[in-house]
Amino acid sequence: MVAHSSLSVVGRFAPSPTGFLHFGTLVAAVAGYLQSRKSGGQWLLRIEDLDPPRVVAGSAAALLLLLEDLGFDWDGQVLYQSTRFERYHEIIESLRSQQLVFDCSCSRREIIASAPHAGEEGPVYPGTCRYGVRGNRREHSVRLRVSDEAVCFVDGIQGEQRQNVEREVGDFVLYRADGVFAYQLAVVIDDIDSGVNQVVRGTDLLFSTPRQIWLYRCLGAQPPSYYHHPLVLGADGQKLNKRDGDYTLITAANGAGMLWRALDFLGQTPPPDLAGAAAAEVLAWGRENFSIDAVGRENKPVFF
Ligand code: GLU
Repeated sequence: MVAHSSLSVVGRFAPSPTGFLHFGTLVAAVAGYLQSRKSGGQWLLRIEDLDPPRVVAGSAAALLLLLEDLGFDWDGQVLYQSTRFERYHEIIESLRSQQLVFDCSCSRREIIASAPHAGEEGPVYPGTCRYGVRGNRREHSVRLRVSDEAVCFVDGIQGEQRQNVEREVGDFVLYRADGVFAYQLAVVIDDIDSGVNQVVRGTDLLFSTPRQIWLYRCLGAQPPSYYHHPLVLGADGQKLNKRDGDYTLITAANGAGMLWRALDFLGQTPPPDLAGAAAAEVLAWGRENFSIDAVGRENKPVFF
């Protein structure tokens, strides 16, 4: 695989079509769009519909329409991950031919029972099936082998990051035992194949990034630059999500005001009188004035 040129920015927005657009997702769209457009870069759109039971019918189409209504424009065709399964399979087989992946038949219960300790995202995989399938489940997942070393990178918002993937996560899943390709695999292959060199997304994915960088290395590709923006928290201090109710949903009617609030959330200082302006005008202000340095690090609540 050929490393891409880093001369001009190629950013992307990669929502999962699991519900309608809410304020937390709008913040990710605004941050990514402006960080790329402000330097004259491209901005691609990808629908992460890997896991059919989680897809909410009609939500991808509604999301695209709404983004267009609010004045976002993207480059090229929208990419749907559900059209890419053959490609993902091909990559797994190529990793297999290099002995970088292995089949694993451990159930979650077996992993919990044998894990050295619990990691941030559940039990750390102890390497049980690394040298041959030893679990008891009939279905197999496919895991990528990692080793005991630190993955370091500098995030454009969160600063220096360091994670030992083997100790904090373990060999990780690229293909799930229930027949679904893992997010970690699809996101990396799609970003490589689309020439993406700038990833802007929420801090909920910061812990995943070292795994993704590991995979880039296995594929001989150059990782993008990363910017993890703070998350919008609900009144309960948890990441804002669809359960927080209708008041965080974005519509064509409240969109312009929500865009203004997204800029404000991201530490920008949009003029107060712009709060009543049309969406296209608010975004145009953003394209002129957005500064990634003004974006704070801390997740924070927003009260509507
Ligand atoms: N699909 C992911 C989400 O909606 C984002 C993936 C990414 O930006 O890498 O949370």
